[in-house]
This record gives sequence, C-alpha cells and structure tokens, in this order.
Amino acid sequence: MELEPGIHQLTFGREPLPGFPPPNAYLVFGSDTAVLIDTGWENEDDHHARAAYIREVNAPPVSEIVITHRHPDHGGGALHMHRETGAPLACHPNDREAIENDRLHGELHVADDLQHGDRRELGGLSLEAVWAPGHTSGSLALFAPERKALFTSDTVLAVSTTSIGPHDGNLADYMRTLEMLKDVDARIMYTGHGGPVKRPKARLNALIKHRHEREQAILNALRDGPLSPAELRVRIYTRLPKSRERLAERQLLTTLTKLAEEQAVVAEENDRYALR
Ligand SMILES: [Zn+2]
Ligand SMILES: [Zn+2]
Repeated sequence: MELEPGIHQLTFGREPLPGFPPPNAYLVFGSDTAVLIDTGWENEDDHHARAAYIREVNAPPVSEIVITHRHPDHGGGALHMHRETGAPLACHPNDREAIENDRLHGELHVADDLQHGDRRELGGLSLEAVWAPGHTSGSLALFAPERKALFTSDTVLAVSTTSIGPHDGNLADYMRTLEMLKDVDARIMYTGHGGPVKRPKARLNALIKHRHEREQAILNALRDGPLSPAELRVRIYTRLPKSRERLAERQLLTTLTKLAEEQAVVAEENDRYALR
C-alpha cells in the first residue's frame, strides 16, 4: 500500500496476539535507491507476498534492509529478504547479537551497525537512524526529514501502548526515549503495527501520562501491603481478556523493576513487592 510517494507499507502475516495487528514493514525509496525497513515474520507465504509486492512496485533496487529490533515479527523474514534482494542487513549494535542468533540462525552476519544519527541518501529522500532504546536496548526509529515522517516500529503505536518486557526491555530507557522523540520534528509516525500516528506530540504525551498513571496505581495498590505482579494485575487491570493476562503481568513486573531501581519499592519473598 502506497502511503505517500516513495513510502510503501507492507503488512503480511499473522497477528502476534488476538486482535493485535500483524507487523508492518516499509519500503522507502528515492530516485536512486530503496531501503526496506523490517521484514515481518519468518513464514514462506509472507515471504512470497512481500517479495511479489516489492517486484511490482516501480522502485529502484533495495540497497539495504534495516531491522528495527530483535523481535521475530520484525526481523523474522530478514534472511529470506536478503536472499531475495541481495541487500545487506543493518541494525543497532545492541540488538545485533540477538538478531544474528535468533533471526538469522547464525547463517548470516548483519553487515552494518546503524548508530544514532547515521544517514542514508536515497535520492531526494533520506533516512536518519534514531536510537530509541526501551522496547529493546537496540530499538531503532528512522526519520525521513524531507517528509517529516518517523518510522517508529514498536516504540510508538497508535493501536495500543508498547509492551516493555522485563527481560529485553527497560522502562526507564523507554520513558527517556518518549521524551527524546518529542524533539524529533515529526509530522506523522508510521508504526510497527496498525495505522499511523497522525499527531505525534499528542500521542507521546498521552503515552508518558499513561506510564506515570500506571506507576501511581501500583504505588497506591501497594499501600495495602506487598503484592505480586499477578495480584496487582487483578487489582489494576479490570476486564482483561484471558489471553492478555500474562502480558499484563510482564508489564507490571517491568514497572516494578523500574520502581525498585528508583528505590520506591523493594522485592520481597514470593515474587511480592512492597513500598519502601
Ligand atoms: Zn517488538
Ligand atoms: Zn512488533
């Protein structure tokens, strides 16, 4: 689907969770060259659909494939798209090892590190790497200044908040990233799942406010005594579908970890956390 001249959204494959949209990849090109941002799931049908789409678009050859972060819904198809296009892969160094091991199965190296501020000229259109740690430590966004378009991957979504896992994510980093992205002069955000964010600053402010409110709700609940993430989930998330319960508990654990680092809470026995 063409979003604007030289910017196409490729959405193929399954939903990561029931009701949560499948991953978006983007083909971005100028007069000279094209860059593919993300490659979706590792799945034969998805591969063929993506490759057919790229062949049909009247674009210059793909010169680079940027993997925004280590997760399987974004880098799963990288090996196949590399073989299809011959284009080298690039990612942020913090996610390189996970991408090479888990997404590329050790069969291919990521050719280039993309550091904050690195720039690619596509001919009348360019892409700048924006390091956006939090969802993972090596999460990247890409900014096309000529269009004021920011490709946010999973860091900012219109359809929901972003899941920050307790193991590969970091909520304190994520909060700093949301603040930092307010300084990027974006007109629109093209996201990793679902539709675009059309009012970037308002969305960033709403996401920051949501996280602060969630922290406050946890601190309030702990006034009654120590609670585990599962116990907090029952109190804080009402009317949650069963399929989202584990994810909600992971989110609570991530927030508790941040609060513990800030010395606001302390970990006790039986997975419980108490106010300090
Ligand atoms: Zn992700
Ligand atoms: Zn995703």
